[in-house]
Amino acid sequence: MGDRPKFNVVVVGGGTAGWMAAAALTKLLPTRCAVTLVESEAIGIVGVGEATLPHIRGFNDRLGINEAEFMAATRATFKLGIEFRGWGRAGDSYIHPFGTYGSGHGDVPFHQYWSRLRDQDAPVSELGDYSMAVTMANMNRFARPDPDPAKIESTFNYAYQFDASLFAPFLRSSAEKLGAARIEGRIVDIELDGECGDVTALRLEDGRRIEGDLFIDCSGFVSLVIGKALGEPFEDWSHWLPCDRAVAMPCRTETALTPYTSAIAMPAGWRWRIPLQHRTGNGYVYSSSFTSDDEARSALVGAVEGEAIAEPRVLKFKAGRRSRSWVRNCVAVGLASGFLEPLESTSIYLIQAAISGLVELFPEGTISPLDRNEFNRLIDMEYDRIRDFLILHYHATERSDSPFWDYVRTMTVPDTLEEKIELFRRRGRVVKYREGVFLDASWVAVYMGQRIIPEGHDTRADGPPLDALARSAEALRGEIRAKASRMPDHRSHIEAYCPMAAAA
Ligand SMILES: Cc1cc2nc3c(=O)[nH]c(=O)nc-3n(C[C@H](O)[C@H](O)[C@H](O)COP(=O)(O)OP(=O)(O)OC[C@H]3O[C@@H](n4cnc5c(N)ncnc54)[C@H](O)[C@@H]3O)c2cc1C
Repeated sequence: MGDRPKFNVVVVGGGTAGWMAAAALTKLLPTRCAVTLVESEAIGIVGVGEATLPHIRGFNDRLGINEAEFMAATRATFKLGIEFRGWGRAGDSYIHPFGTYGSGHGDVPFHQYWSRLRDQDAPVSELGDYSMAVTMANMNRFARPDPDPAKIESTFNYAYQFDASLFAPFLRSSAEKLGAARIEGRIVDIELDGECGDVTALRLEDGRRIEGDLFIDCSGFVSLVIGKALGEPFEDWSHWLPCDRAVAMPCRTETALTPYTSAIAMPAGWRWRIPLQHRTGNGYVYSSSFTSDDEARSALVGAVEGEAIAEPRVLKFKAGRRSRSWVRNCVAVGLASGFLEPLESTSIYLIQAAISGLVELFPEGTISPLDRNEFNRLIDMEYDRIRDFLILHYHATERSDSPFWDYVRTMTVPDTLEEKIELFRRRGRVVKYREGVFLDASWVAVYMGQRIIPEGHDTRADGPPLDALARSAEALRGEIRAKASRMPDHRSHIEAYCPMAAAA
């Protein structure tokens, strides 16, 4: 096997997806592939995408990335979850935390005990008060999780909020050190084999030809290889996820440095607020069927909480994905494979899922259709789950104050989601996933936060006497508050651990 020639991998595009793919392949499969990345500085990258999920920590660890160096270089802050303002009703607010409710121990999920206390009129606080991550977020505190699973400080996880335009250059330097070759140039044509239809080469504007065995299409929304050259159809999900534009505008941070991202409901969509070390990212994600670019621009400008530091910039997109992400000898990663709006910060996670799948199923000698099918099954599952989770946020609302909210509240949702909602509504049961993104606590957070309240609870929660249950819940709440209040303030933690000046 050691004598087998290396696979010639050509990465098409040098945005976040392209450099994540190049860095991972050079680091994890050094003997199996040689990597060449082609990008065009004149075309540039999307450059938004500031909020992530905790899975990115696993990606960085596998690549041997030092956390403090990475955070300093990308001006990053910590993220304990997402605050949703005004989604269930105007004035509502809840946090989707990265972590469990309660201690996370035992067979019966904590929210079932919480439901019983509420059903039986025992004293009980907001569900989020029994979550370490929510309490830390509300108090603007941060410390790393304790490795001892017996401690309440082990029950949360975290991600990062960072400057997306700095992540790709950060990865580029490590990929190039490990041997990835970079070619600057505009791709004008994709050559296909006349007989089998595989991709054989990219042709650049200056006439150069870049040949390869496997092409990773990271060309962004234009989807140069899988979409344009191979003609893989795009499944359009905009009837469920009608937001198709965003206007983005960063501002100075003039309020607290929150360890969470905010998603604030707006008349035709929602607005993000993402605090980084050097600025706060803002954007209004909206549906062009319900508002105009000009209206969206003025709504964003009027809402941001600090002095603007760039002009508002409009981006266009469509929710959905390619029917298959691996076609012939082309694997699409990132925006070239599909897009789901950034409400739950899932795009970089999807890039990571595709790269992990590819690394595991990387061809041995020739590309096997079995590997390709398995890859496509995995990616479909990830996209479909995230799609349902996002639709839930829009559909589970009582808002009726604009045509946009009327549409999403009353639209027909996928059967897979309808079943999940009914299961939860009956007895608080969450559809179980053993792996992947958004496990139980995430679904519970959004259901409860958006007023899908179970009609009953799991009878296993009836075990302990009611007053003992109420006392232990209160003790837990107190312990969480006490532990969170002893943690450092988020800004002080960052200044001590990964200040951006260290990147210079
Ligand atoms: C409004 C918005 C908000 C977002 N927020 C988040 C978020 O909070 N969290 C998150 O995880 N994700 C977010 N995303 C998604 C995130 O931005 C992308 O997933 C990420 O940037 C990856 O993009 P990419 O690398 O696939 O594409 P791009 O950044 O578009 O890169 C494409 C690359 O292909 C190259 N290229 C294209 N055509 C050619 C050509 N002809 N010749 C040569 N090179 C070419 C370009 O030069 C570039 O290098 C957001 C996206 C949008 C639109």
